[in-house]
Amino acid sequence: MNRKPIFAANWKMNKGASETEDFVKSFLSKLQGQDFPCEIVIAPPFVSLPKLADLLHTATAVQNAHAIQIAAQNCSQFDAGAYTGEISVLMLREFFVHYVILGHSERRAIYGETDAVINAKIKKAREANLKPIFCIGETLAEREGGKLESVLRTQVTEGLKDISEKDLADIVIAYEPVWAIGTGVTATSQQAQDAHAFVRSLVAELYGQDAASRIRIQYGGSVKPNNAAELMACPDIDGALIGGAALEPQSFLEIIRNGSSQSEE
Ligand code: PEP
Repeated sequence: MNRKPIFAANWKMNKGASETEDFVKSFLSKLQGQDFPCEIVIAPPFVSLPKLADLLHTATAVQNAHAIQIAAQNCSQFDAGAYTGEISVLMLREFFVHYVILGHSERRAIYGETDAVINAKIKKAREANLKPIFCIGETLAEREGGKLESVLRTQVTEGLKDISEKDLADIVIAYEPVWAIGTGVTATSQQAQDAHAFVRSLVAELYGQDAASRIRIQYGGSVKPNNAAELMACPDIDGALIGGAALEPQSFLEIIRNGSSQSEE
């Protein structure tokens, strides 16, 4: 099955508009003349979306700008109204947002997002034709307690509850072991491959083998230029969700270059 790898930068609460501009200008100049067989996505903070949209979609003179898709880091599960501090999917659409990261472990752990909330957000995102990057992953205690598979099973089953097969086709799953996020500790390629194969088997149980072989599953957790190739060479890993190492244009580009040359297409 041909699955186009997807490399997404999750900037978290870093880079306002002017830093976004600096990054994009530098990144685009490095990207110039290069064509990688993958999708490239940048998820800046909400307030930097207008700047990113402007740089990528209205500055048509910039070569390669079209190759980059915009993601949001979250969205509301509601349409509009009295939800102080929230951002709706229609607001995101105004800034050419195509993807939205949902269920990130920081949202789960710090903001108490449950599987049910994440499921509601995935549905709302699909209503607006946004593509969710649906994050799942176990904590170290869960892994060491032998709960890896049951945790992933619950997250996948509850997160995708009542999502149609048609909508699933526009969802990317990001497997991110919580113990590897921002810690510098990466899962070994074997640990990552085993978890990805298990997640794919869960999707097969829910939607059948065809849908499972089509869905893209990214790995996230301390991906760096020097480990991207080995991770992306695994048959069930289809790209990466990258935090810290995607804050620098050169390092994000090297991950894409090293990783996309390895990914199975
Ligand atoms: C992330 O936040 O999704 C992530 C994978 O971060 P890092 O690459 O810094 O571990």
